Amino acid sequence: MTRSDDYRARTPRSAELFERASRSLPGGSTRTTVFFPPYAPYMASGEGIRIRDVDGNVYRDFLGNYTSLILGHAHPAVVAAVEAQVRRGSAFNAPTEVEIELAEEIRRRLPSVELLRFTNSGTEATMFALRAARAFTGRAVMARFDRHYHGTHDIAMAGTAGVPAAIDGLMITLPWGDADGVERALRGREGELAAIIIEPVQGSGGIRSAGPDFLAFLRRYCDRIGALLIFDEIIAFRIAPNGAQGVFGVRPDLTTLGKIIGGGYPLAAFGGRADVIGIFDARRGGALTHGGTFNGNPVAAAAGLATLREMTPDRYDHLAALGERLRSRVGDGFRAAGVEARIEGTASLFQVYAGPLESAVATGARDASELFMGLLLEGFYLAPRGMGGIAVPTTEADIDELASAMLRVTASLQPVAA
Ligand code: PMP
Repeated sequence: MTRSDDYRARTPRSAELFERASRSLPGGSTRTTVFFPPYAPYMASGEGIRIRDVDGNVYRDFLGNYTSLILGHAHPAVVAAVEAQVRRGSAFNAPTEVEIELAEEIRRRLPSVELLRFTNSGTEATMFALRAARAFTGRAVMARFDRHYHGTHDIAMAGTAGVPAAIDGLMITLPWGDADGVERALRGREGELAAIIIEPVQGSGGIRSAGPDFLAFLRRYCDRIGALLIFDEIIAFRIAPNGAQGVFGVRPDLTTLGKIIGGGYPLAAFGGRADVIGIFDARRGGALTHGGTFNGNPVAAAAGLATLREMTPDRYDHLAALGERLRSRVGDGFRAAGVEARIEGTASLFQVYAGPLESAVATGARDASELFMGLLLEGFYLAPRGMGGIAVPTTEADIDELASAMLRVTASLQPVAA
């Protein structure tokens, strides 16, 4: 029996729901990133790091809605904050105090964020950060890095089907970690460049840390050419109380946030220098418009605030220690077994490659998806590409059991031609 057959045998009710979904949703899915073949399990409930599907299978969730649920599922503090807010009302055509409290908590953690605006998704956050950079500098061109992910709006997806070619020319892709390469790629375009956007720790591109030296180079380079430096910390903000910018000691002009700041609810933000973000100040003539029926939604803001308040420095230490434990156990195990698999990561974020790194990235990781399915059958839920984020309720025993499962599954994989 193949892994896929085994999975189908354990998930008949999910299969039925997927069939039903396929009649309404293309490919049975409304979110590209949660689909995997043959179909994802439909979830019924979650508590802590345990999630239960509609067939009664229980998984330990090492993804937490793509790293957003840093406290795990249905954390009591978050549930209480959300219930209290829902009873008072879920949304108004007017602001609420909780949006100020969340903004203040974020500013306390990120001194570079002098002013910010809330959005519903990370996609909107990067879209508005880039627009703000263009409006502020009066320049049109942007740059990002290879293996970037900044969401799904047109500029973030430049170069893909459905995005006008006119936009392609406005987005330059730079080589990661290569200062000379950055200067070469932008030579002659410096005066047109509005901003460089970078994930200080890449998420979708495999958990890769840009490191302090490269970020400091980008800071100097942007200052020299008059472009803005944007840190997309939608994933990276979870690595420490003051985010990746605190860890690496580099101050961006603008920052985008998402995932954990909504405490499991749809909420994201963009912010930074007051002179840049101030262009959204509606009291000023010519202010940029930033409407949004659910911007700063009080339920999401209450969940985010409760989450950040729970995230005391010792909790970040706990998560980083668990991340280190996983990486060292699995890394040692891979070396001892002589397999070409690798595990990487920073703090609570990790990325496992079941085969040679370059083939995993280049081929869309067939071997990673086998690893993913193998782990799913062992009761561990990661991203299909092998990424994970550790949540606060995780114990050392959970980590050790995940590590053993990773070693067992990797050992059982057929060698894949590079
Ligand atoms: N930027 C980064 C670094 C992300 O990881 C993501 C989401 N994975 C986004 C932007 C887009 O966020 P959202 O899915 O909330 O639109």
